[in-house]
Amino acid sequence: MAASNRGTSEASRETFPDIRDAVRRLCADFPGEYWRKADRDRRYPAEFVAALTESGFLAALIPETFGGSGLGVQQASAIMEEIHRSGCNGGACHAQMYTMGTILRHGNDSQKQAYLPKIATGELRLQAFGVTEPTSGTDTLSLRTTAIRAGDHYVVNGQKVWTSRAEYSDLMLLLARTTPKDQVKKRTEGLSVFIVDMRAAIGRGLTIKPIRAMINHATTEVFFDNLRVPVENLVGEENKGLHYILDGMNVERILIASECIGDARWFIAKATAYAKERVVFGRPIGQNQGIQFPIAKAYAATEAAALMVDRAAKRFDAGEPCGAEANMAKLLAADASWQAADMCLQTHGGFGFAEEYDIERKFRETRLYQIAPISTNLILSFVAEHVLGLPRSY
Ligand SMILES: Cc1cc2nc3c(=O)[nH]c(=O)nc-3n(C[C@H](O)[C@H](O)[C@H](O)COP(=O)(O)OP(=O)(O)OC[C@H]3O[C@@H](n4cnc5c(N)ncnc54)[C@H](O)[C@@H]3O)c2cc1C
Repeated sequence: MAASNRGTSEASRETFPDIRDAVRRLCADFPGEYWRKADRDRRYPAEFVAALTESGFLAALIPETFGGSGLGVQQASAIMEEIHRSGCNGGACHAQMYTMGTILRHGNDSQKQAYLPKIATGELRLQAFGVTEPTSGTDTLSLRTTAIRAGDHYVVNGQKVWTSRAEYSDLMLLLARTTPKDQVKKRTEGLSVFIVDMRAAIGRGLTIKPIRAMINHATTEVFFDNLRVPVENLVGEENKGLHYILDGMNVERILIASECIGDARWFIAKATAYAKERVVFGRPIGQNQGIQFPIAKAYAATEAAALMVDRAAKRFDAGEPCGAEANMAKLLAADASWQAADMCLQTHGGFGFAEEYDIERKFRETRLYQIAPISTNLILSFVAEHVLGLPRSY
């Protein structure tokens, strides 16, 4: 029997239609050609970031008392999804939306007053997040950058890698070791979070070197050589930094998952349109089930992943624990976007490789999410060990 009940159309189920509509209108000014050129030249999409900043979308999560819109992660997810679904990319500025959460939730009053209103207007850009290091990689507890207290300053030495947007950010949120690993009571202690004012630090102990990468992501290596960071820039308590970073990571994972859903929907729309119009052997290629089924599978995977993203966002906004959901949302959404990317390229045959179709660029861009901000394997190990109680592998 043929499946007869048509599902509710995607558009009628859309959450926050006004927000989505406004984001789509903004993104319409930044078509494929804009992104292709930026990608080719590895140029920062400054105009797009300025437009998003001006629209207030990047301040969605900042409470109204600090000049933001005071929206929840569900609305922020809709914003990031629509950016990617429109063929744009939020990677140049998404961190401006969520990195401030560490200051909002764990900073003191004077830090909140000093930074949040200016982040809300875009006067201050907080979009550099220094966690990953070349030697320790995913093993954050083994990071080697140190911050040693010396009077009213900390002296920072070490190196970070893949610090994205460092050249286009005024502030960096830095995770550094303040107590040696062999002197802490609990292995998760001994790391601290600092707000580094990069404008003051460049040339005075901070050096930034761009990394030319597979995608246009403005990513860099950052070197610290006796950089002095004032004590008042420590966020929360010394040695408790990992906890502050981890709770921000749930928001990051949900929003990146939303970007993946946006990418997946872009690929599916592009493939569906092409499969209807491309005629080979005297009929549209979309008439062949060998072409139809991968599109339908990618669609089903995307819709399922979107449900998990939605569940994670709702739990976060309700103040409920959401670590498992945020991780699973990121895993499922990144897999769905990669599945859709591969399907879209295959559907387009040779033309998928041509720059002007934007598919090869989006294909490269969405591949990132299997690795960053957390790799698929590490999420699987989190689910296996922390949700299912299997023995620890590391
Ligand atoms: C374009 C880009 C932008 C980035 N932006 C930032 C940023 O702004 N700030 C920042 O701090 N970081 C950033 N990162 C870093 C990113 O978060 C890391 O690359 C990622 O977490 C993986 O770390 P790694 O590259 O050191 O891989 P490694 O830790 O060396 O791992 C290599 C591979 O081994 C696997 N692996 C490692 N250990 C295990 C295990 N125990 N079990 C199973 N598999 C394992 C991993 O899954 C991975 O596939 C960015 C990376 C990229 C590529």
